[in-house]
Amino acid sequence: MDIERIAVIGGGTMGNGIAHVAAQHGKSVRLLDVSEDVLEMAVATIGKNLERQVKKGIIDAAQSEATLARIETGSDLAAGTEDADLVVEAVPEKPELKYSIFQTLDRTAPPKAILASNTSSISITEIAARTSRPDRVIGMHFMNPVPVMQLVEVIRGLATSDETTRSTVGLAQELGKIAVEVNDFPGFVSNRVLMPMINEAVTALMEGVAQPEAIDTVMKLGMNHPMGPLALADLIGLDTCLNILEVLHRELGDDRYRPSPLLRKYVAAGWLGRKTKRGFHSYD
Ligand code: NAD
Repeated sequence: MDIERIAVIGGGTMGNGIAHVAAQHGKSVRLLDVSEDVLEMAVATIGKNLERQVKKGIIDAAQSEATLARIETGSDLAAGTEDADLVVEAVPEKPELKYSIFQTLDRTAPPKAILASNTSSISITEIAARTSRPDRVIGMHFMNPVPVMQLVEVIRGLATSDETTRSTVGLAQELGKIAVEVNDFPGFVSNRVLMPMINEAVTALMEGVAQPEAIDTVMKLGMNHPMGPLALADLIGLDTCLNILEVLHRELGDDRYRPSPLLRKYVAAGWLGRKTKRGFHSYD
């Protein structure tokens, strides 16, 4: 199936990156969010990131302009998805919110459209079961920052069809990404492996084992990680990390996924990482 028109739901950290990459590769994009401020910020962020790509010689000025011209923004889910070939949902990692968005999308998007979720941990099978087209629901898990990272983890729900999977993998490749297919279990592969490490780093900080810089430096220089776990948590968003750990803890029922109390405290304080300029590190 040819995918030319893409609607992205949620213009936050991930949504603006997905819109950017899709438009850069010639797709017409509608970026939809409940907040006008977020949409304004999203377009500004995409503009800034395109400028950076021009400076690095990855694209030229004309391509940058054409990319921006292919992105429309709006807040009306029905109008924004009525002619979409594929919708990618990137709203916060809250199961009930995703279920309700997919129920709406099932009514508003054309019956043949693929409905993809960028969820980090929530069951694709459960999301799909809320719709009348579970065969056309799939996980399309982009990595942050989307314009830079190569991987898209493609998650098949129990009812996802081969054709939907083929089209989604094909789209990821068209967007210059490498798609890896995985099955639907909480956290899939990426966050099942990553989040326990981040959580342990937060617990080490809470227990006074070392300061944030020291924890990150040990993991960077000692394990050859490109960034330390606390800096990575700040990049992902501490609220998103907490939401993912809550899904893992609840769905897998194992205390090794129990979110660290210090992570909860930072989220309660509104210290969410880079997006609020303060997390385990400061970003002024
Ligand atoms: P975010 O909080 O930065 O952005 C979410 C956006 O959704 C916000 O702009 C919010 O206004 C909007 N929104 C909320 N309710 C909405 C609705 N009903 N309709 C339309 N828009 C709505 O979150 P994020 O970090 O971009 O995460 C989005 C999804 O991507 C989550 O499922 C998350 O787990 C996943 N994800 C995040 C990362 C990461 O590093 N942040 C990486 C991979 C996947």
